[in-house]
Amino acid sequence: MKNIIPAETSKQIKSLNLNTNIPLIISDADEVLFLFLKGFEKFLKSKNLYLDLEKARLTGSIKKISDNTPVPDDSMSKLLPEFFLKETKKLEPVIDAENCLKILSKKAQIIILTNIPFKDKKSRVHALKKYNMNYPVITNSGLKGPVVSEICKGMKAPVFFIDDLGQNLESVKKEYKKAICIHFLQDIRLQKLMMTPNNIKHRLTNWLEVKKLINKEILFYENKK
Ligand SMILES: [Mg+2]
Repeated sequence: MKNIIPAETSKQIKSLNLNTNIPLIISDADEVLFLFLKGFEKFLKSKNLYLDLEKARLTGSIKKISDNTPVPDDSMSKLLPEFFLKETKKLEPVIDAENCLKILSKKAQIIILTNIPFKDKKSRVHALKKYNMNYPVITNSGLKGPVVSEICKGMKAPVFFIDDLGQNLESVKKEYKKAICIHFLQDIRLQKLMMTPNNIKHRLTNWLEVKKLINKEILFYENKK
């Protein structure tokens, strides 16, 4: 499979103004800054549906509350876009994300890289502002490795990549080897369900741990300079 960056994502990357000598944090939004799972479950409930968390996937795991039968696979292609359209603005934040990013922003540049329909970017930006996380947002579709590699062209300072999905972490590790990748799993149920890829060293469950790790790495970088 060819790794192509969507044209819309490329355009957004070009508008970034990064300093290659200052550490960079690239953070996912859903399930890292916002309580995606909690919001999605609430949305499903309003449709008399629920997410069966037996398996680590969405397709085939959405079932009817009335008789536990799964909804057809193709209904996901309607449910997720509807969810992002209606609920993105309303999602609750992950505990400590706001404060930790604020502290980290004194020493690092921060970008939010989020896989959400391009037309819903405004809602995401709106929600981030509401919780004082007003950092540049890049919207994307597909694996994040090529995008991170493009963003980080010429970066000399360390780059941190935070995501809850193993595929994205593996993709970033492949396309931009120097990235310090953090598998972030704050939901206890997802912690039991999600494996961390073998080549990803850090698996963390809260933002205080993330802040501690990044601060330590930045200090190491500064002492080396
Ligand atoms: Mg996510």
